[in-house]
Amino acid sequence: MHSPLPASLRDVYERALARNAGETEFHQALLEVLESIAPVVEHRPDYIESGVLERLVEPERQIMFRVPWQDDSGAVHVNRGFRVQYNSALGPYKGGLRFHPSVNLGIVKFLGFEQIFKNALTGQGIGGGKGGSDFDPHGRSDNEVMRFTQSFMTEVYRHIGEHTDVPAGDIGVGAREIGYLFGQYRRLTNRHESGVLTGKTVLWGGAQVRTEATGYGAVFFLEEMLATRGESVAGRTAVVSGSGNVAVYAIQKLQQLGARPITASDSSGYVVDDAGIDLDLLKQVKEVERLRVSEYAARRPGARFVSTGSVWDVPGDLVLPCATQNELDAAHASTLIRNGAVAVAEGANMPCTPTAVEAFQDAGLLFAPGKAANAGGVATSALEMSQNASRQRWDFESSEDRLRDIMRDIHSSAFEAADLYGRPGDYVIGANAAGFTRVADAMLAQGLV
Ligand code: NDP
Repeated sequence: MHSPLPASLRDVYERALARNAGETEFHQALLEVLESIAPVVEHRPDYIESGVLERLVEPERQIMFRVPWQDDSGAVHVNRGFRVQYNSALGPYKGGLRFHPSVNLGIVKFLGFEQIFKNALTGQGIGGGKGGSDFDPHGRSDNEVMRFTQSFMTEVYRHIGEHTDVPAGDIGVGAREIGYLFGQYRRLTNRHESGVLTGKTVLWGGAQVRTEATGYGAVFFLEEMLATRGESVAGRTAVVSGSGNVAVYAIQKLQQLGARPITASDSSGYVVDDAGIDLDLLKQVKEVERLRVSEYAARRPGARFVSTGSVWDVPGDLVLPCATQNELDAAHASTLIRNGAVAVAEGANMPCTPTAVEAFQDAGLLFAPGKAANAGGVATSALEMSQNASRQRWDFESSEDRLRDIMRDIHSSAFEAADLYGRPGDYVIGANAAGFTRVADAMLAQGLV
């Protein structure tokens, strides 16, 4: 159980609530961070006196715009686009673009706010930002997706740049969308500015391991946590949600390290494959043919598709929520605990509700919050920026080694900060406190801006 917010932090929280009414996911992310940093500000009242917190919760810039586009039949659609440039004290704004019908300003702000601390934790000189649109790419042709992304970039290009703001992918934005976005940026600016977007295809400026990085990184973090108890992922069963970029490569790394992931899901339901997920088939169904996950079960003897209940009803030792925010609640957590789960690593951003996190921690499970566990994606994006700036290309093995080292460092930073602030083993407090102090110190050093 977290202790109640001290008065100084409660003031910041209440002012932010009043100013950002209705943005529930943002409020949730804000409260989690403020609760975690209470022990930090107790030792450092200057963070309050200098207004660092007041400034941190308010984005430096929020851009909202109309995105008009035409579908294949010629009908006109109007979506809303967002880019929230949250904090650039440590480097250019950095964070993904999400294309999903649920996207609104509150969702983008929660993601951008989390991104500040996640990026600080990587130690790589990147600020925090996030963007996206309520556009739904499901069922749209390649040409429709291209027209939409071109229209989106036609506004956003004037706000980004390799030293200003560097977007990447997130839900609904993968290599195809990044390609169309980059093409339009190059056309509008007459600059082949590789470092303006990350998640590019390797052929024209992308980095090895970027595609795999978030999923691989979450499993590396899981290994580090288990190692503190003399354990490992090998020989364990894993339940994974999602079947997109993060889930697929978490499953791959789990398999490479000797674990047995047995589930995958999407918004239509989940599959259980007790023999272990056939990764080639999952990639074929989801990445190549862009079909529903039920098609996996239809093609795989022994696997079953379930459209009711929850993937968290399936027993497993390791739990990796890799789909979306608030997908795992307190009831799911108690089922998982009852079924013998030992560790949770959030591949997605804020997939566990606050009461689920509390239940896992109270039951003594290892729990890795997304801002630590899924930081491998943005960390490898920063490696992509480095390669673009120096016109170098690193091979897969050395890039994966760097990712593993970064995840080890993130684990140590979070682990040590948790100890320092009197909550050993609490990676939520550790990750927030370690990330926050880096950003806050940079803001203090740079004066009132
Ligand atoms: P993808 O679009 O590749 O995949 C998302 C997956 O989650 C799909 O299987 C999708 O199913 C499912 N999903 C999305 N929304 C919902 C919903 N409302 N209910 C049920 N299922 C849903 O996205 P990513 O794998 O890139 O991202 C997944 C999570 O990881 C997000 O929280 C993202 O912010 C986070 N993340 C991603 C990073 C990256 O590098 N890509 C980096 C760090 C965090 P369906 O197709 O049916 O919608």
